[in-house]
Amino acid sequence: MSNSPTTPGIVAGRLSDAALAENFSDLHAPFDAHEAAVAADRCYFCHDAPCVTACPTDIDIPMFIRQIQTGHAEGAAKTILDQNILGGMCARVCPTETLCEEVCVREVAEGKPVEIGRLQRFATDTLMAKGVHPFTRAAPTGKRIAVVGAGPASLACAHRLAMKGHDVVIHEAREKPGGLNEYGIASYKTVGGFAQAEVDWLMQIGGIETVYGAALGQTLSLEALIEDFDAVFLGIGLQGVNALRAEGEAADGVRDAVDFIADLRQAADLSDLPVGRNVVVIGGGMTAVDAAVQSKLLGAETVTIAYRRGQEKMPASRFEQDLASSKGVRIVANARPVAVHGAGAAAEVEFEYTRDSGGGLEGTGETFRIPADQVLKAIGQTLEGAPEGLQLDGGKIAVTGSGRTSRAGVWAGGDCAAGGDDLTVTAVAEGRDAAEDIDATLRAG
Ligand code: SF4
Repeated sequence: MSNSPTTPGIVAGRLSDAALAENFSDLHAPFDAHEAAVAADRCYFCHDAPCVTACPTDIDIPMFIRQIQTGHAEGAAKTILDQNILGGMCARVCPTETLCEEVCVREVAEGKPVEIGRLQRFATDTLMAKGVHPFTRAAPTGKRIAVVGAGPASLACAHRLAMKGHDVVIHEAREKPGGLNEYGIASYKTVGGFAQAEVDWLMQIGGIETVYGAALGQTLSLEALIEDFDAVFLGIGLQGVNALRAEGEAADGVRDAVDFIADLRQAADLSDLPVGRNVVVIGGGMTAVDAAVQSKLLGAETVTIAYRRGQEKMPASRFEQDLASSKGVRIVANARPVAVHGAGAAAEVEFEYTRDSGGGLEGTGETFRIPADQVLKAIGQTLEGAPEGLQLDGGKIAVTGSGRTSRAGVWAGGDCAAGGDDLTVTAVAEGRDAAEDIDATLRAG
């Protein structure tokens, strides 16, 4: 609950500035031109390439790698951005090891895939470094579309709509655009203010206005947006966090991992950021790994990820798990939290071992404790404040394949919409496809 730097055991400045700078440097160094050419040479340019099928945005991967190989990095970037306008960020944060690179024929044959993610970054960085925006707007349509939220789905939707000649107004509750790219992803994956630079670059298309501090259900209502605009796209993400349902959850030192990551991403000086001596992260997804690794990099002495199922069931990819282990994070599987102990502030977390009996997860009755002055909850997010009148599916906004909700004139995509993985790349695909459907619908009407 508490984020107070005065909470016992949670202090700032555990490491020197130099150590922090080193720890939070780029996870994967970018390719230079020669390295990119060598990496591109490994591609077989497969017919019916499995890497393309595995990409949620259907980027023509062999085509862009061929363009890099022949020295046309900017053309390669255009190939990528045609399908995925946030191709620069996706090159950094996509779990390529479970998408395109997992099915690359060179991974299958030799256990070493073509480094598609790093090649994609090389291409998009080359183009963005030149300040080039290779898209232009179509003739104005006179249609206005409201986009709610400024995360990946919304940005992809807004850009595609602007390209089609529509005018777009993005309504964002926070102070900055970018959504999870800006607030929710480990900082070593997107160094140097890349998230904002990418948004600035994307906005060069023109025709997109952004209003900040505009939150649905507070200063905005869906009814008013439907009234004022020709179409509405909801990319509002997930704001709620699941409860641990463990005794002592309200103790000082217990907080949501997403808030911890957001604070870290927005910190002007990492040495001001408090972190526990002994940190326990509860959960098994990417957010759990991002929070755990960053706690360690900030100087926590011990960091443990506790996951209630077997390690093979963790939603975080094997690469992410190995990254955590390589940074000194311990992963304890088959453990569910029972209680947070301590006199007001967290001191220990008590867990019960679990087993999967085939009929579901059950406790074994055997318990153990892990010292923890900071406990970070990363057990999934929920949709909060969904506009009334929209049909839900599994707690998220029900949509068709092209993002249509149960209300005419309202589309949705990204994490708030049912179906799909909660990944940046999936959100981009959903935003883009909704924009195409909005455009077709408005032109037909
Ligand atoms: Fe190239 Fe691998 Fe894709 Fe084949 S599967 S086109 S080798 S990146």
